[in-house]
Amino acid sequence: ADSVEGQVPKTRPDADGKLRPRRMDEMVGQRDVIERLKIAIDAATSRSEPLGHILFDGPPGLGKTTFATVIPNEMNTSVQMANGAGLRAPKDLLPYLTNVSEGSVLFIDEIHRVPKAVEEYLYTAMEDFRIDVVLGDGVNARTLNLELKPFTLIGATTRAGMLSAPLRDRFQIREHLGWYTRAELAEIVHRNAKKLSVVVDDGTADMIADRSRSTPRLANNRLLWVRDYAQSKADGKFDREITRAALDMIGIDELGLDKQDRNYLDTLMRVFLGGPAGLDAIAHTMNVSSDTLEDEVEPFLLRSELLVRTRRGRLATPKSYEHMKRPMPDI
Ligand code: ADP
Repeated sequence: ADSVEGQVPKTRPDADGKLRPRRMDEMVGQRDVIERLKIAIDAATSRSEPLGHILFDGPPGLGKTTFATVIPNEMNTSVQMANGAGLRAPKDLLPYLTNVSEGSVLFIDEIHRVPKAVEEYLYTAMEDFRIDVVLGDGVNARTLNLELKPFTLIGATTRAGMLSAPLRDRFQIREHLGWYTRAELAEIVHRNAKKLSVVVDDGTADMIADRSRSTPRLANNRLLWVRDYAQSKADGKFDREITRAALDMIGIDELGLDKQDRNYLDTLMRVFLGGPAGLDAIAHTMNVSSDTLEDEVEPFLLRSELLVRTRRGRLATPKSYEHMKRPMPDI
């Protein structure tokens, strides 16, 4: 959603790399998850075994990739990064699997997008650290059994419900990442302001937190944008006034909704009279993919009670009419 016109510019890779925590102690929030992972890491390390496979699920920007980089750091091992969308055929998986070293991590983001044919290779790879590759076809086909080094698969998904049961069951550790509190986001803003060598007072950090949809990635994006704005308009000093002006300029409102979020609610109210409307119909009208809406727009609207999902479709709530300053239709 970051590249949609008028929204926060995509975080520059260098800045994002700089802001991403490297160790568990640098991570904010997710205390329960961190507690459980520390125990699993301690136990695996003291037994000199690879860590069990881990599945993270939750909306985008809540720390799945961060965990996948922090865990190997804690275990002093390396990580290979793959994306489920790029693993179209079993052969796409081979370079990763044959490259794993003992105890290292293979991270597959968007693992729900791995096709069935590839998924089946993951089963034996995860369970027995072995894959059976079929070479050639017809009467000449032969099976090659490859032994793999024991490794840890970390999977991430925004759609835990789309994973098949056999795949889901092969993860020994499954963690759901939830939304961050205002205080946690404000702490992330303070820590990252320090890394960027800018000074942010508490009121400003709270304002950025309030407008970040409970999501660390958005808090970082907003902070970077406000820093740019302050540099160009106010000699780099920023306070609540500058922050409000900077965020208003890119269409981020008091609830943290961006233009796309408001466009969604506006479409639902204006075109579909508040619903119930099907997701695909809304997506077609807005000319965006329904996946984008379901992954990036709806989760926060649902949790903020600005939207409800019924069996017949999406429905605007009284709170969303109030936020959008539209009269409720007479029913
Ligand atoms: P996901 O993989 O779930 O989409 P990421 O792990 O890429 O999300 O997180 C996005 C950014 O948010 C990271 O680059 C990092 O800077 C920040 N972030 C995420 N989780 C935390 C956390 N617990 N503490 C501090 N920063 C975080």
